[in-house]
Amino acid sequence: MYQQILFAADFSEDALRVGERARDIARKCGAKLSLIHVVEDVNISLGGGYELLPVLPDLPDEALLQESRNALGNLAQRLDITDAGLWVVNALSTKEGIIGAAKDHHIDLIVVGSHGRHGLALLLGSTANAVLHGAPCDVLAVRI
Ligand code: AMP
Repeated sequence: MYQQILFAADFSEDALRVGERARDIARKCGAKLSLIHVVEDVNISLGGGYELLPVLPDLPDEALLQESRNALGNLAQRLDITDAGLWVVNALSTKEGIIGAAKDHHIDLIVVGSHGRHGLALLLGSTANAVLHGAPCDVLAVRI
């Protein structure tokens, strides 16, 4: 039975459904559930004439992290989870953030959605796929 479950939460419309699955498995197993949201480091050094700066939100890092903490707290509330760990981490990529936390906290099941809100993931490979290939434990991709 799983003892430490990690739900990788984006804030897409389907996050609730994926979270419900993670919560229900955690309850059945008597496992500890933690929620993680990764704020990726934005790399604006693409060069080559890309004019990315004007479309980036004018927010300091700490404000972005705080906004994510609030959103994660809201999601936990909507899931009726009161005792979960809520982790917002900053990492180079979502995959690295999730896998790093899984290793640090001896997670034995990671729950992700089969896809989320990154249209680019269709081209680059989804987070679910990336996590599956680097995870130190089982991974459940909840079909969306
Ligand atoms: P995507 O790569 O956007 O298709 O997302 C697939 C799944 O990865 C989502 O359903 C979430 O479970 C997870 N995920 C995506 N982005 C994040 C993020 N920033 N932090 C944590 N989990 C994420």
